[in-house]
Amino acid sequence: MRRRFARRGVHGRAPVPEPRPVELRIAADLFARVRGHVEDTRRGEEAGFLLCGLGRSPDHDLLVVREWIPIPDDAITSRGTGPMLAWSADFNARMLVRADELHAALVLVHAHPGRRAPVPSLDDTRYASQLFTIASRMLPGRPSGAIILGDGAATGAFWQDGRRVGALRRVRVVGVPLRNWLPQPDDAIDRARPRLNRQTLAIGPRSDALLARAAVAVIGVCGGGSHVCQQLAHQGLGRLVVIDGDHVEESNLSRMVGATSKDLGALKTTVMRRMITAIDRSIAVQEIPKRFPCEDAIAALKSVDVIVACVDSFAAREQINLFCRRYLVPLVDIGMAIVTNGEQLVHARGQLVVVTPDSACLRCGPLLSDAALAAEQIERPRGYDRNPNAPGAPQVVSMNGTLASEAANAVLDLITGYAGGVRGSGWWTYDGRRGDLTPFASLAVRDGCPACAEQAHGDGK
Ligand SMILES: [Zn+2]
Ligand SMILES: [Zn+2]
Repeated sequence: MRRRFARRGVHGRAPVPEPRPVELRIAADLFARVRGHVEDTRRGEEAGFLLCGLGRSPDHDLLVVREWIPIPDDAITSRGTGPMLAWSADFNARMLVRADELHAALVLVHAHPGRRAPVPSLDDTRYASQLFTIASRMLPGRPSGAIILGDGAATGAFWQDGRRVGALRRVRVVGVPLRNWLPQPDDAIDRARPRLNRQTLAIGPRSDALLARAAVAVIGVCGGGSHVCQQLAHQGLGRLVVIDGDHVEESNLSRMVGATSKDLGALKTTVMRRMITAIDRSIAVQEIPKRFPCEDAIAALKSVDVIVACVDSFAAREQINLFCRRYLVPLVDIGMAIVTNGEQLVHARGQLVVVTPDSACLRCGPLLSDAALAAEQIERPRGYDRNPNAPGAPQVVSMNGTLASEAANAVLDLITGYAGGVRGSGWWTYDGRRGDLTPFASLAVRDGCPACAEQAHGDGK
């Protein structure tokens, strides 16, 4: 096996890594397959390995799951008399080669079914320490380790460059709704906020706590995005990240919720902060007054639960869609195209798309086809949108608002699951003349989709 070695310090020792918690992020369908294997104890204990991309954040490491490889029968050397499983060193060597090829981290998974707060046995701890002290030196610069799934809770420990570096913070299961498996069962219901009383009556007491702990980013906060920010603030989201590099212009006053004539020249993100905190001072607002992708936005978006894209170009959508694929973040996208002939509106067509790791992405479907991206490049070359004389696209606030309301409903469903499984991911089309919002025939993940090819790659190599 080809071995790589950690960068050495001046005295020939690897620098000591800082202890950092680890979040493991996994698509809901893949998590169901992992559970289906490790929780099936008819023959004794089962286990397998996850191969994960790495996303670095300032205060934690994110492992995004790319592949699941259960330990096959022909590698198992003993199921023992108790639950203890043993398998060949040769199989571990194969996993190390595969992880090295993908530049991935390696995570061993087994289950203690029925445990509300799983605790590793002495054998679990001894084996994980032996394996990952060595394995993490062969997969340098990323945390590898072992996790144990209980009943809705998970625990785990990680090693990097031969040293223990941190514990599992949570397993984030990315589907509709989003689920967290924490080291302790997650059944705390915070004191309900009186201002959300009517909403709580509608969608249940647990929704308040889930919303208070959630973080959502809105990219593009003019026609569609300003409505989305306003509704998410009313819904009681705990943290909002607002991203937009533009300033308020007079023509924005026809459709930007929260902006007044006194705001001309102000940053759009500043206007959103004022609107959101006027609704609820306790909401943490992070303003990023820049265009995506920029370093600040990328760092902030790694830790949000959902991204809502309300941008006006296909090129920006493509970048956001790729980011969501790489880090397994659910994406809600809205957009509208109005065509007029003379003074007559000919059509007003929009879309709402909810993308999860299990569903077709924006690049899988017709919206961001190669042809659509190429056509936009010719029509609107780089820098076009920074030209103050460029003609803006036709827009109507009330049509933006319809799509934005459904985007806010999609976020509410992702966080709370209020729709009970009848909504989920998918595509909807909107006709602003007729007033129809129609589910589109379900799209399959497209073979050869360049964004899906980078699913769960994290920061990449
Ligand atoms: Zn165990
Ligand atoms: Zn795709």
